[in-house]
Amino acid sequence: MSNVSLRNVRKTYPGGFEAIKGIDFEIPDGQFCVLVGPSGCGKSTLLRMVAGLETISSGEIDIGGRVVNEVEPADRDIAMVFQNYALYPHMSVYNNMAYGLRNRGMPKPEIDSRVREAAAILEITTMLERKPRQLSGGQRQRVAMGRAIVRQPKVFLFDEPLSNLDAKLRVAMRVEIRKLQRRLKTTSIYVTHDQLEAMTLADILVVMNGGEVEQIGNPLDIYRKPATTFVASFIGAPPMNLIAMRPGEIGLQFAGDSRGTTTAGILGVRPEDLSISSDAVAPGGLALDLTVEAIERVGPETFVYGSREGAQGVSATPGELPEGEVIVRIPGQTAPAVGEHIRAIAPRDKLHLFSADGRQRIDV
Ligand code: ATP
Repeated sequence: MSNVSLRNVRKTYPGGFEAIKGIDFEIPDGQFCVLVGPSGCGKSTLLRMVAGLETISSGEIDIGGRVVNEVEPADRDIAMVFQNYALYPHMSVYNNMAYGLRNRGMPKPEIDSRVREAAAILEITTMLERKPRQLSGGQRQRVAMGRAIVRQPKVFLFDEPLSNLDAKLRVAMRVEIRKLQRRLKTTSIYVTHDQLEAMTLADILVVMNGGEVEQIGNPLDIYRKPATTFVASFIGAPPMNLIAMRPGEIGLQFAGDSRGTTTAGILGVRPEDLSISSDAVAPGGLALDLTVEAIERVGPETFVYGSREGAQGVSATPGELPEGEVIVRIPGQTAPAVGEHIRAIAPRDKLHLFSADGRQRIDV
């Protein structure tokens, strides 16, 4: 069993900065966990603590039933893949993959069979005699993964492994990493700031903010029911539209809701849940009157940027929506013209409501 448990893990850097503020979660054996969050939220620090490259100020990290706080990185039975592959330039691909095993004194035939098996899985068998400089970026990344695979560790740790690759290769390697992990069934922790990578790779998604876990769960559950406006605007692109509601407006919108008359809040609606229509809105549905400010045609779909006159938008952290702006995501390429007045509507069951400070989801 190689489940990983973090129990009230904290990290205070010398100088007093609290980078990790008490994190608790468990990754069951064989699951793929992704840590996602904006720059500086502490995801690399947390990963490095699991790896043993960073000390733990308090709390416990448990790998496969053993508390590893005091265990050296080399003895934790983990293998790490970084964004800079850190291959030895003068060694062949074969030797790069075999190096760590030789250092451990593993018998030659065992090393050979592990390297060849990993190379076959990664489809780099024909490149085993080449030097890293004779490989493309994607191929080097595979060698870096091969080096981790041959160790047959309890846990794989990935720190933004794809960020040096171009966009197309990133997508291809993302799919490969997922297939590989499904095949090997090795518990994995993967750090990224890319929400798409996080959504597509994770069995368990951990959204971090300011050294804390903002939300943890299955990626689609998080997409459907973000716990805070931070998560709502971080997961999903373009981000969820967030609109400040004054006391009274919530009552009008969510007819019959008792909080509505006195409490302010934030209404959320995803760009893909809005459609442009002059139809009457069903009870509880949302209708926004917009002036089209800009159009982005990306091929299969079009993003319509509209402004609400007299309306208050909310810039939630990480605040991608300017005040009063609403994004509507429509299929195809047919779009209204800039300057046109349109109505965007969404049904009641696609609306989200948050407390006025954005820290709490309210189910209505
Ligand atoms: P990024 O995506 O930019 O790598 P991150 O979420 O991985 O960000 P960390 O590298 O974990 O963030 O850093 C978390 C916080 O801890 C940051 O505010 C950073 O400045 C701080 N920090 C990191 N290393 C140290 C250190 N050695 N001493 C003091 N503060 C540090």
